Amino acid sequence: MPIQILPARLANQIAAGEVVERPASVVKELVENSLDAGATRIDIDIDKGGSRTIRIRDNGKGIVKDELGLALSRHATSKIASLDDLEAIVSLGFRGEALASISSVSRLTLTSRTQDQEEAWSAYAEGRDMDVQLKPAAHPVGTTLEVLDLFFNTPARRKFLRTEKTEFNHIDELLKRIALSRFDVAINLRHNGKLIRQYRASDTQVQKERRLAAVCGGPFLKHALAVELEHGDLKLSGWICNSHGARPQNDIQYCYVNGRMMKDKLINHAIRQAYESSLPSDLYAAYVLFIEVDPHQVDVNVHPAKHEVRFHQGRWVHDFIYQAIQSALQQSMAAGEETYQA
Ligand code: ADP
Ligand code: MG
Repeated sequence: MPIQILPARLANQIAAGEVVERPASVVKELVENSLDAGATRIDIDIDKGGSRTIRIRDNGKGIVKDELGLALSRHATSKIASLDDLEAIVSLGFRGEALASISSVSRLTLTSRTQDQEEAWSAYAEGRDMDVQLKPAAHPVGTTLEVLDLFFNTPARRKFLRTEKTEFNHIDELLKRIALSRFDVAINLRHNGKLIRQYRASDTQVQKERRLAAVCGGPFLKHALAVELEHGDLKLSGWICNSHGARPQNDIQYCYVNGRMMKDKLINHAIRQAYESSLPSDLYAAYVLFIEVDPHQVDVNVHPAKHEVRFHQGRWVHDFIYQAIQSALQQSMAAGEETYQA
């Protein structure tokens, strides 16, 4: 075969392979877009584990009519414009690929209205490589993304979908992680028309604890110690459990860097080390931790799914987290404190 440039749809489908693994990955990308758009309420409707319908509606700032087509194009983003921006990312998205990828492997409708527009507009794309058709629509200020028949045109991918229940569980777990990253945002999740989760917007400590208990369970809250520590540009906050809150599984380990959920080896290592002496070897630590760091100090452009980061001063971050957690655990043991008091 001669060398040739791939058709746009095929290129997008290849890119989709990196970020769109299953319905939960679609939900992740779309909810992150809603959060980046400043939404304070997000409604998620799933049918058949997401293989039939994923519908996400937000009250964010919306997309102007003229940019609806662009939003679905590859490498099109409103979040960065230069290398300087890339080196100090403050939004969850920046690659400009999610909507292009998702629309290449589904039947996607994007409906949006901005504050300045009298009416909403809808853009429809199916396995997109044609011009997007725009139609007037009814919609309050904000955006709805509807993704139907995920992987309808990529049968190999579709075959990898698990049962409705399994796929829905992945979505539910993902939204737990997101719910803990933004206590201020109301999130509702429905499956096959039934309301499954309702995370109310929480401002007060009591409301936050209610959400914490909804996601992590009552026992976590009972054994959780609030931590809050700052050192230079680095800030660590959240809740950790002492050995009384240890778990047979690693199911309550939530970690965020600048609001982005993470599975980071360096951070995991620091946390594990901090717990080492206080935790029986067959049990796992339970924690919800937020790390805030100057965005210049961290590179989020490591992996397309963005769940890894690279710290410019990794050792420093590692040691800070290690020491912060270790001393919080020691203090709590010294005080004989087993429960978290607000
Ligand atoms: P990225 O998030 O990396 O910029 P996406 O493909 O996810 O790329 O989205 C492309 C663009 O579409 C975004 O930069 C944003 O301007 C716009 N957009 C997507 N979803 C929403 C939304 N829910 N509300 C407002 N704008 C959105
Ligand atoms: Mg995005």
